[in-house]
Amino acid sequence: MNAKPTGPVPPDYAEAPVLHIAGRSAGEWAQAGTPLYLYDAAAVQARIGRFRAAMPARVALHYAIKANPFPPLIAAIAPQVDGIDVASAGEMDKALAAMPADAISFAGPGKGDAELTAAIQAGVTLNLESEGEAERALAIGARLGATPRLAVRVNPDFELRGSGMKMGGRASPFGVDAARAPALVRRLIAAGADWRGFHIYAGSQALSAEAVIETQAATIGLAARLAEEAGALPPLVNLGGGFGIPYFPGDVPLDVEQVGAALAGELDRLDTHYAIELGRWLVGEAGIYLARIVDRKESQGETFLIVDGGLHHHLAATGNFGTVVRRNYPIAVAHRMHDAAEEVVNIVGPLCTPLDRLADRVALPRAAVGDLIAIFASGAYGASASPQAFLGHPPVQELLAGA
Ligand SMILES: *Cc1c(COP(=O)(O)O)cnc(C)c1O
Repeated sequence: MNAKPTGPVPPDYAEAPVLHIAGRSAGEWAQAGTPLYLYDAAAVQARIGRFRAAMPARVALHYAIKANPFPPLIAAIAPQVDGIDVASAGEMDKALAAMPADAISFAGPGKGDAELTAAIQAGVTLNLESEGEAERALAIGARLGATPRLAVRVNPDFELRGSGMKMGGRASPFGVDAARAPALVRRLIAAGADWRGFHIYAGSQALSAEAVIETQAATIGLAARLAEEAGALPPLVNLGGGFGIPYFPGDVPLDVEQVGAALAGELDRLDTHYAIELGRWLVGEAGIYLARIVDRKESQGETFLIVDGGLHHHLAATGNFGTVVRRNYPIAVAHRMHDAAEEVVNIVGPLCTPLDRLADRVALPRAAVGDLIAIFASGAYGASASPQAFLGHPPVQELLAGA
């Protein structure tokens, strides 16, 4: 039977013959029970350090907690970044527990009046997604006697080339079309709001430095043009993010040093502060999902390893979270990282649906019932992006390793 390839194991975890995270083996961590998400605090810290070294000092770093809102992880990251970006009142409450309100911004369409009120009362910046939302925020500010902090999210007239999820260059529920943004800025300023600038997010999961460089240059160009048309300098331009990580066979890591070097040459086009907001690039490769093999079975010549975790915890690894073609995440038998492959197996979870397939025809050393399977690149869009209630299995356990 032909094996299908798997994505690249992050280098930090590929070195030891037995998988270790933060100095302890996968087996030791799994004594806390499986299935389990482990987030490696040192790996996240190293990412942040790499961003700082690669990027111009003038560019602030924000964490987009949609990628992973596990509170201990937010608490570990908050002191190391300049801001947190949230997309719901629930996320806002988590961010406020870790960060001053003036370093938090709140994006996302369809913010309800209760959400707008809570943000304005707290002093969180609202990234406005429409003129209607702007009017409601202004009215709520007037009613509260508070000056709302309002930024305009712009639907750019270009997209991040090669990104996994395109967010610009087309009709969109996100942001105000670029052509209408200057009028909205003038309206906010005339109404006495504290206008915080522009938020321009063109896409996600980009691995090509050239594409990111091109998008950032276009973003700064757009912000400069809008500022001129609005007749006001934005206090902050949030350039979006979109830095991707390798998940699948053939994926090559993003060259952030190349991105930083190019960005340094663009910043002076506008006299403002800049921010980049990142989710998966900060936390994705620092997360590992561990599941234990419960059963082995043969069917029509194929071997199935059935594990205690699955789609209800890790929708993305099953190919059901925003991928067109199902491909295998990086996966390994945790205590046999360097052993040669001996068999081709399917790894499935306990859910009564054929969608619950964590690995499709992967070549691995022989694994037995009780062994641990590790799925890498699992730190972003994992537990919080999976339908945990589906089929009534217990929720997944999450641990911050090495904090
Ligand atoms: C989802 C999202 C992010 C984070 O995207 P990543 O791909 O995880 O970096 C950042 N900003 C906005 C506006 C988003 O919607």
